Amino acid sequence: MQKLNNYINGRNCDPLDGNWLDNYNPSNGQVYSLVADSNAADVENAYQAAKKAYPEWSNSTLEHRSQILMCLANLIEKNLDRLAAAEATDNGKPLSLAKTVDIPRASANFRFFAHAITQFSSESHESAGLDTINFTLRQPLGVVGCISPWNLPLYLFTWKIAPAIAAGNCVVAKPSEVTPMTAYLLSELLTEAGLPNGVLNIIQGTGPSAGQAIVQHPKIKAISFTGGTKTGEHIARTAAPMFKKLSLELGGKNPNLIFADCDYDAMLTTTVRSSFANQGQICLCGSRIYVEDSLYEKFKVDFLEKVSKLTVGDPFSNDTNLGALVSRPHLEKVQSFIDRAVEDGASLLFGGKKVTVPGLEKGYYLQPTVMEVTDNSCSIQQEEVFGPVVTLMKFSSEGEALELANQSKYGLSATIWTSDLNRTMRLSKQLEAGIVWVNTWLNRDLRTPFGGVKNSGMGREGGLEALRFFTEPKNICIKY
Ligand code: NDP
Repeated sequence: MQKLNNYINGRNCDPLDGNWLDNYNPSNGQVYSLVADSNAADVENAYQAAKKAYPEWSNSTLEHRSQILMCLANLIEKNLDRLAAAEATDNGKPLSLAKTVDIPRASANFRFFAHAITQFSSESHESAGLDTINFTLRQPLGVVGCISPWNLPLYLFTWKIAPAIAAGNCVVAKPSEVTPMTAYLLSELLTEAGLPNGVLNIIQGTGPSAGQAIVQHPKIKAISFTGGTKTGEHIARTAAPMFKKLSLELGGKNPNLIFADCDYDAMLTTTVRSSFANQGQICLCGSRIYVEDSLYEKFKVDFLEKVSKLTVGDPFSNDTNLGALVSRPHLEKVQSFIDRAVEDGASLLFGGKKVTVPGLEKGYYLQPTVMEVTDNSCSIQQEEVFGPVVTLMKFSSEGEALELANQSKYGLSATIWTSDLNRTMRLSKQLEAGIVWVNTWLNRDLRTPFGGVKNSGMGREGGLEALRFFTEPKNICIKY
């Protein structure tokens, strides 16, 4: 069976303890490879390799770093089919999604930061009358840790690594043990792109072992983490006493506000996508749908009709809209949320059941699920499910819509559907979210700041924000 091991100092190597974990194919429930179960000693080796590579890499020219990143972007593009198939197998997502979203975006991440680093600049301040000039030197941090989740494996892994290495840092990175494959395949491309040994080290393994060792390593200067809010809290508690720089991109329970004056057809099509893309396993999915009361009944009928036509099936079939959920424990967790919601009084309008796909009977498939609620404080309205489950609730005024949307511990993204520009501005300003989409969803320009407020995290990724995170500003004051 294929073994997915670590990539340290430019070489693939087995975990020191010789322990391996089963890696499942969610579409058929079978173990199809083994992944290194690394521990603190492996992380230490990765740190030492990164530390050794740091002086030369941090002093390399921007053009040199930019060229290597560009080369990586091209190599990912060249390997699109292979990487997309690997992602679909490892994660259960439809191949079509991996081909059009995940892998192109991984390539775009490297391409974007290859350009961005050549445009990164800092401020200078002349102190008039004092004959002094201050300028801000932005230096890389040293060795940094990047930890990413399983839902968009290569997409989010590279979203952290690309700015970290572009800025001159060396990295110890860990993908989720649930989806290790594309990070493993990336290691081959790193060598081919000519990335110097030790600049990027990939450690496979579990969060509590390998991940924890990265977070608590005393010499790893910063942690860029994307994952669940509970894990984020734990990471913050571990890293804060060491004064590490932290970027935490955490969970969401995003409101989708639909007003009667919206472009109905565009809203309906996009709302199906924002509800169920990647089986609802995108932190930005609009899982709380609030509809203005005059439109509510029509929307409910039309939405349910469209949802009922979605095909759940083999990730490799062209007809598939929803593939498998990522793992059996996750499937069970999502089902338990549905059961609890029904106990709490939610009406199940569609779905809620496991799907048996012929030939793939042991896969982790679930129907897209739509529930109707009247109580905004019930658990299905407040807890992140991170699966193909949305709720419908009506509102009667803009003020009520805003109140319902903000009544959440999370604040990642929000979507508004309206043709009223004044309403757009009123709501956009008052919604407690890091990202507001108006008449669109998951429309990303990589220059924009990305991140959440409240329990959805702290710090921003994207564009120059990411380069700022991965550098330390130092003020230099010169008297002349
Ligand atoms: P987890 O928090 O369980 O895991 C995320 C990563 O952290 C994984 O690599 C995991 O390893 C690792 N990890 C777990 N425990 C520790 C620890 N103690 N120390 C260090 N690392 C650890 O999240 P999921 O993978 O389940 O991802 C789903 C969550 O991610 C959802 O809440 C979702 O909203 C959020 N998310 C947020 C995004 C955003 O941009 N805000 C984007 C995408 C997802 P392993 O899996 O191997 O145990």
